[in-house]
Amino acid sequence: MPQPVQYRGMALLIPDNDSEFKEYFQHARQHRLMMRACTACGLMRYPPTQACPWCTDLGWKWQEVSGRGTIHSYEIVMHSIQPGFKDWTPYPVVLVELDEQRGRPTPDESLRIIANLVKSDGSAEDEKNVAIGKRVRVTFHDLADHIALPQFELTDETPEGRVWQLPG
Ligand SMILES: [Zn+2]
Repeated sequence: MPQPVQYRGMALLIPDNDSEFKEYFQHARQHRLMMRACTACGLMRYPPTQACPWCTDLGWKWQEVSGRGTIHSYEIVMHSIQPGFKDWTPYPVVLVELDEQRGRPTPDESLRIIANLVKSDGSAEDEKNVAIGKRVRVTFHDLADHIALPQFELTDETPEGRVWQLPG
């Protein structure tokens, strides 16, 4: 078994037989955001499951995406469940709709990934700066030789659609 990787005082362990996430995080360590793409219908999916959620075909290949997208939804964590995040609160968790597959296969179901939203120094983005519709890009937090965490940071691009923020 591989040794756990320490992250914010927590032990992260991706077992050797986790074929879905092991390679995903290895790609991330190479600073590539890779999705599984169905070889039958061509649609990408996240998480990297064995079968296509859209057409159920079992054929897939890794496909790189730009890591650019729009905040589809978000939450502000006020009380962390994990002790390692206690000194981060309040911090945002964002659901990002990736550009490559916007609105497909339907406007309600597309390629979305959940992650922390961070500043360029790796700390949590301020709540006042987070909003639905704002543009983001992926950034990678290296943890070990074989694992990095994909996270997102805000860009200065024009937001998409209506910008919405939790009432403060
Ligand atoms: Zn498919």
